[in-house]
Parts: sequence; structure tokens; C-alpha cells
Amino acid sequence: MVVAQRPNLAYVIIDTERCKGCRLCISVCPKKIIGLASHINQMGYTPAVVIEEKAHECTGCTACAIMCPDTVISVYRCDRVPSKPAS
Ligand code: SF4
Ligand code: SF4
Repeated sequence: MVVAQRPNLAYVIIDTERCKGCRLCISVCPKKIIGLASHINQMGYTPAVVIEEKAHECTGCTACAIMCPDTVISVYRCDRVPSKPAS
């Protein structure tokens, strides 16, 4: 199988309904791709969200997930993805 190297393929998912808006993840993201939403969640907090226009800059460093006291951030990173076999 042919494998392609794509070192920066990473993204985060934030469970916004469980986020309490403490902003710790925002403070540690080196790419500044996390901000606050313009709405409140079911708990009455303004949750953290990924800024859509900057999402592609995520490096998958996991700093946000490690810092989150409520473990509501998941980081996905794929350093090696299969490509189509040569025909
Ligand atoms: S994984 Fe790193 S770069 Fe991506 S959002 Fe979290 S802190 Fe920012
Ligand atoms: S650190 Fe966690 S709880 Fe705090 S704002 Fe970020 S996602 Fe929400």
C-alpha cells in the first residue's frame, strides 16, 4: 500500500455543551484558533469554539486538550494517510 506523509493533518472537536467557558484552551493554543462562541450553552456558559477560518492551522499539539479541566476537547491527528494505489 502506498502511504503519503501529511504531517499537519489535525483538528480538534470541542463538546460545547459541556464547556464552561473558562478560556484556558484559548490561552494556550499557539495558533490562536480557538475563540468564544456567540451563543450560550445549556449550562449558561459561553463555550469555546474553533475559529473556522483558522481551523486548518491546527498542529495537533494537544495543548488545548491537556489544559482543559473538563476534558471536553478531543484532538485528532493523522500523520500518515493511505493514498490510492498506483495503477
Ligand atoms: S491541538 Fe494545539 S494547535 Fe490545535 S487547537 Fe489545540 S492547542 Fe491549538
Ligand atoms: S478549557 Fe475546556 S472548559 Fe475551558 S473554555 Fe476551553 S473547552 Fe471550555
